[in-house]
Amino acid sequence: MSYLMPVYQPLAIEFQRGQGCYLWDHQDKRYLDAISGVGVTLLGHAHPDIHTEIVAQSQTFLHLSNLFKHTWNERLAEKLAQITGLTQTFFCNSGTEANETAIKLARLYGHQRGIQCPKIIVMQHAFHGRTLGALSATAKPDYRQAFGPLLTGFEFVAFHDLAAIEAYQNDPDVVAVLLEPIQGEAGVNIASTFYLKQLKVLCDQQNWLLMLDEIQCGLGRTGTWFYYQQAEICPDVLTIAKGLGNGLPIGACLTHPKLGHLLQSGLHGSTFGGNPLACRVAYRVLDLLETQYLQSVSAKGYHLLDLLQSKLTGLHNIKSVRGVGLMIAIELIHPIENLTKIASEQFNLLLNVTQGKIIRLLPPLIMTDLQIEYLAQQIYGLLKACYLSDK
Ligand SMILES: *Cc1c(COP(=O)(O)O)cnc(C)c1O
Repeated sequence: MSYLMPVYQPLAIEFQRGQGCYLWDHQDKRYLDAISGVGVTLLGHAHPDIHTEIVAQSQTFLHLSNLFKHTWNERLAEKLAQITGLTQTFFCNSGTEANETAIKLARLYGHQRGIQCPKIIVMQHAFHGRTLGALSATAKPDYRQAFGPLLTGFEFVAFHDLAAIEAYQNDPDVVAVLLEPIQGEAGVNIASTFYLKQLKVLCDQQNWLLMLDEIQCGLGRTGTWFYYQQAEICPDVLTIAKGLGNGLPIGACLTHPKLGHLLQSGLHGSTFGGNPLACRVAYRVLDLLETQYLQSVSAKGYHLLDLLQSKLTGLHNIKSVRGVGLMIAIELIHPIENLTKIASEQFNLLLNVTQGKIIRLLPPLIMTDLQIEYLAQQIYGLLKACYLSDK
């Protein structure tokens, strides 16, 4: 038996080590990692520069608390301001906490405008995390049902439907719109840049905060630092986490300068949030992305998407292949049982299936062209084999 609560059902593989885009199990079998710990290890496994930062920080101090100053949270926040245009950051330890911060900010913003019961517009199929606030903004009934009562004040509308949001124009209680510009857990649902532009205009007209959750699609994944930059807009609030620490837990909620004063001393906090180790590593992650990896993500993404589209078109059971940068989904018509198990056992491939029939690829951003070609080839083999064995 296991002493862990049975909330996960991991595959039976036991990994011994990792390097770059590969992991090896105890029998020294090598796997190509096309999921990066669900969008986390952007720089792959055992990156030497990350190793160096972790060692160096552990030789000074790992933790001080927020009672004392250190340089790494300041430096990281400054760097984030440079790449986002959002000048005030609160650090936490996960994506869900980043969204909790955003929800609290929106409510505070509403209260300051005299709104007693502020409402936040959120999207159908959204995923924002598992704590009760973020869960209240999350759509999936399976995740919510057992835990009521959840927070009130969330209005669900169809994703990528501006008219559904415009319908709230006369509701004085609305304070914010929260969305993933590319829905990850839902299976890579992509909001167009045109929609995002229009949504930004609407939010500005209505004095609603535009709050983007780029926890999964941000930090270079789509070929730019953030997907919203492709729409040439800037949100009022941005949440990030996953890839920021390349595996060390860290999340952040960033705001536009005009909101930077909202969370005053004592109104919010976190014991571990902003700790020197996580911030130092995250700073290095951003530095490495900037100087070495970010510029080629877009080309790699096109390459992978192109290969998958040309190889998979014509195969049975493929509904669509879509993506932006290195965030790619292969949607199947019918689910394939044990797909991730077959992928790992027979095709040396680590991937993820979401919503039962959407294969989600979130490879490390350091993946080489050769690895991308291998990945596409293996997926083709996998889907062909599964289709044939189904017959
Ligand atoms: C993963 C994810 C979260 C939750 O992050 P955790 O670190 O697991 O709490 C929130 N939003 C999106 C879009 C995510 O992909």
